[in-house]
Amino acid sequence: MPKGLITRFIVALNHLIADQNMVWKSGVVLEREETRAEVIEDYAKHKISVRVAGRNTRGLLAIVDDQLERIHRSFPPLRYEKYLPCNCEGCKNLADPYAYKLSELRDFAKTGDQIQCRISRKLVDAAALIEDLFPGKPTRVSIRREQPQAPEPEPKKEVFVSYKWTDESKAIVDQIEKALSTAGIALVRDKNEVKYKDSIQGFMERIGRGKSIVVVLSKGYLESKSCMFELTEIADRKDIRDRVFPIVLEDANIYDGVGRLDYIAYWEDKEKTLDGRMKKVAGANLAGIREELDLYAKIRATIAGIVETLADMNALSPEQHRGSNFQELERALKVRLTE
Ligand SMILES: [Zn+2]
Repeated sequence: MPKGLITRFIVALNHLIADQNMVWKSGVVLEREETRAEVIEDYAKHKISVRVAGRNTRGLLAIVDDQLERIHRSFPPLRYEKYLPCNCEGCKNLADPYAYKLSELRDFAKTGDQIQCRISRKLVDAAALIEDLFPGKPTRVSIRREQPQAPEPEPKKEVFVSYKWTDESKAIVDQIEKALSTAGIALVRDKNEVKYKDSIQGFMERIGRGKSIVVVLSKGYLESKSCMFELTEIADRKDIRDRVFPIVLEDANIYDGVGRLDYIAYWEDKEKTLDGRMKKVAGANLAGIREELDLYAKIRATIAGIVETLADMNALSPEQHRGSNFQELERALKVRLTE
């Protein structure tokens, strides 16, 4: 709320100051046609109170109201609401009677309805209350300014991270999280490493929303069922080159053909072992095993392509990232998030 609002009001109506001296820092008494209006600003409560008494309360109130409107209009972000004090038996003698929003009173008055006082709980005639500004009776109008509405929050900038729950990877993810948070980007990470079957739905939703995903590749990641499930789902979304920001740990060893072949062999072996075991088991638990076997087959079939793509993406090593405090990653993510 801008300071000086009451000051501007006083300056504008300077010619009406009662006795030419009834003015102080946060208020003023105005006089016109044997009528006085006291206008006080309660800065802390965002409130301006007006009390009018005398022969022509309506006339003076109209002048005060008009001037307050003008000043408020010159501060476009200010929203304000006018209140009228309740005139019920319970409120009459209260220093702080219940106050109705003028807009609400008008709305009730239009249809001739009564409105309930929240202090006495009695019903009050809305139209009569608005009209209740006759001479002799002190009338108070409070103009309560509401805080300007907060601007629409910007769409949240989120980056997902897929990583193996190991000390080394966690430490890197912690660092990335810290670096990104200073840029206003939230890193969305699993609190726990979820079992791939439990996480399908949630993960699909996350990935659906996720414009970008940081993938921390390590040997452990590439040999983990749940991590590879995530990676195959990410890769299924096609635009992997735009979405994925890989960080490749040294032990991932994906930059030469032999290293990549080792992973294919690893998953081929997993598949064969499980397949062999399945043939010895009959009946009840086959459905779960079948599902797992399908996953292994999928991983084996896609790992070569995914890993080659990721290896080809010119990812920085963790050392290079750390050296720049992840600035390169931050810059790339910012570009991606504003696309
Ligand atoms: Zn009342």
